[in-house]
Amino acid sequence: MRGVLRYCTFLAVASLLMLATACVSLPTGGDDSRFGGDQRLYLYDSLVFEIAPMGESVPDPHALRYFIDRLHGNAICRRDKVTIFIAPPEKLVPPWQMTMHTVVWFDKTHRQLKDLDPTDRDGYVFVSYIEGPIWENGVPKAIGGVHYAHDAFAVVGPDLRQGSVLLHEMGHVIGLVSDDKADSDHPLHCRNRNCVMYYSAWSGYTDFDKDCKRRIQRLIRVARAPKREVKRR
Ligand SMILES: [Zn+2]
Ligand SMILES: [Zn+2]
Repeated sequence: MRGVLRYCTFLAVASLLMLATACVSLPTGGDDSRFGGDQRLYLYDSLVFEIAPMGESVPDPHALRYFIDRLHGNAICRRDKVTIFIAPPEKLVPPWQMTMHTVVWFDKTHRQLKDLDPTDRDGYVFVSYIEGPIWENGVPKAIGGVHYAHDAFAVVGPDLRQGSVLLHEMGHVIGLVSDDKADSDHPLHCRNRNCVMYYSAWSGYTDFDKDCKRRIQRLIRVARAPKREVKRR
């Protein structure tokens, strides 16, 4: 089991407050010319990620690049419609044991905006970036991330698999994996250990497998289906 990282746990939270903090923008490389004439349907028209570092380090740029590429490649959002804001690092004085309680507190006090409608095609996601680990009952947990609200998750760093963790938690945001083919021992996860939606990470960067790509296509079809007119008698 060496090197195995459990992706995440879940927690429901109440509605969250909004407080303004300054953000800096990370250019996401808008040159999309090689995808010219792209007629694909995407799950979101645009996606904004507000990444708030809960410590001195910031997410790895390569991980963010991988994440944006996979959002594009899996038709979740065109890469030139993805915006990532990285807030200035919050210098929290150690020793600071991150628990789910502190993650939720951090969200409440640092989030600028809130996605009011989870089905909105212009998505807004708050991401806490934690210098790990997350503790539970005084024990550090080997988890890479936590998805705890429909529009928020936390990523634990530093970890080489950060790009996969971002993609995995985003998979939960869009509603994977909820059909009857999901892993019955690990609800909301894929059975395929080579898939990014598997409950744990065995190696480096992984992507959605064929089943999860199909699931995403199904979500797109539902999201993009023309609204039926209600006939009046
Ligand atoms: Zn998960
Ligand atoms: Zn899968």
